[in-house]
Amino acid sequence: MDVRVRALETLLTKKGYVDPAALDRIIETYETKIGPHNGARVVARAWVDPEFRRWLLHDATAAIASMGFIGRQGEHMVAVENTPAVHNMVVCTLCSCYPWPVLGLPPVWYKSAPYRSRAVIDPRGVLAEFGVTLPPDTTIRVWDSTAEVRYLVLPARPAGTEAMDEAQLAALVTRDSMIGTGRPLSAAGH
Ligand code: FE
Repeated sequence: MDVRVRALETLLTKKGYVDPAALDRIIETYETKIGPHNGARVVARAWVDPEFRRWLLHDATAAIASMGFIGRQGEHMVAVENTPAVHNMVVCTLCSCYPWPVLGLPPVWYKSAPYRSRAVIDPRGVLAEFGVTLPPDTTIRVWDSTAEVRYLVLPARPAGTEAMDEAQLAALVTRDSMIGTGRPLSAAGH
């Protein structure tokens, strides 16, 4: 695959269809600037700022954009909040739609056929495999991403974090907790 990609890139560059410097910029952007650390900042702000939380749940696209996280695959964002009664989990049953500006590029398992089918058929079983066991009376809501709408799960703030500031809280927010297949780290950081 690596050789094939190089051959393709060389050919496209020779024909003048792509600019290698532009490709480098795109790769660097997704390696360093765009990733789950962006989403973690959104979640942490929602945990400390009730006004922002309301805005995020009402108009996630605008609330997220206000923090500078905009771009492809994030044009229409919806934030869904985990509560003791409802646990949210995100999938793209058709392919791999994912909110790039806040989570970066999707993990391999998110794109895999087993996750995409089983997340809908047996969400509780899939969650258990990710180490997330929920009380039987917690409703699991599965959100199927589309070509237009991308979802961000707002996980519940971990107990014992009352004294933490926004930056410390952001460090507890894992990628999987924002997909709904994981939980944030505990106050102790694990
Ligand atoms: Fe998709």
